[in-house]
Amino acid sequence: MNPKRLPKLYKKDIFRFWSKVDQRGVDECWSWTCTTRSSDNRGQFAIVRRGENLKRTLKAPRISYALHYERDPYPDYVLHSCNNANCVNPHHLRLGNTKDNSADSIAAGTQIKGEKVHLAKLTDKNVREIKVALTDDVPVKDLAEDFKVDPSTIRNIRRGVTWKHIEVLGFFPYQGKRLSETEVREIKLALLRGEFLHKIAQRYGVCVSTISHIKTGKDWTHVEVPGFKPSTRRTS
Ligand SMILES: [Zn+2]
Repeated sequence: MNPKRLPKLYKKDIFRFWSKVDQRGVDECWSWTCTTRSSDNRGQFAIVRRGENLKRTLKAPRISYALHYERDPYPDYVLHSCNNANCVNPHHLRLGNTKDNSADSIAAGTQIKGEKVHLAKLTDKNVREIKVALTDDVPVKDLAEDFKVDPSTIRNIRRGVTWKHIEVLGFFPYQGKRLSETEVREIKLALLRGEFLHKIAQRYGVCVSTISHIKTGKDWTHVEVPGFKPSTRRTS
């Protein structure tokens, strides 16, 4: 078997894959809510099967394409018509070869020119104000209107894709949905009941690692639930 080919995806892989995606309308971008590769912001999806001695990290857009169009894009590249590398909406994905890839960035360059102009218009001071507002949970849409930029400009600031160098106290790049204390309490109760991590993650629209961090006490230790103790014991 060609090692570059996509491994067979089982139902549980597919389920786990979509649990990491913020699925929206057909025309909207579907953000990958879990790990991304820092060099290109594409989502990463790991498949580890001890029995098959298989350990692969695959690009999320490729999987989305393969699942939707029922063919492995390899050896072609998956390109984004929306120019949002983090997006896995299959309707925004198309195939191309390396040549297309550069053509893609040129096309995207003209496509996002407007955004670039907007970005250029934002000053360091604006970005600082935006980051402060974001820490106060001001909606992206409102900020986009206030600063007369495209919402994606604000979203990119929020995700730390752009304007990373402007530091604001209390501002952390947004990595998917933030949980409330009530939700964390419910999650801890679900963990106590022995529910599967991926089921809980799916229910609350967060990454499995978020639930795992709650379970192991890496995060949210201040939310106490009687009987709940952080555990590093492995369950599947
Ligand atoms: Zn998109």
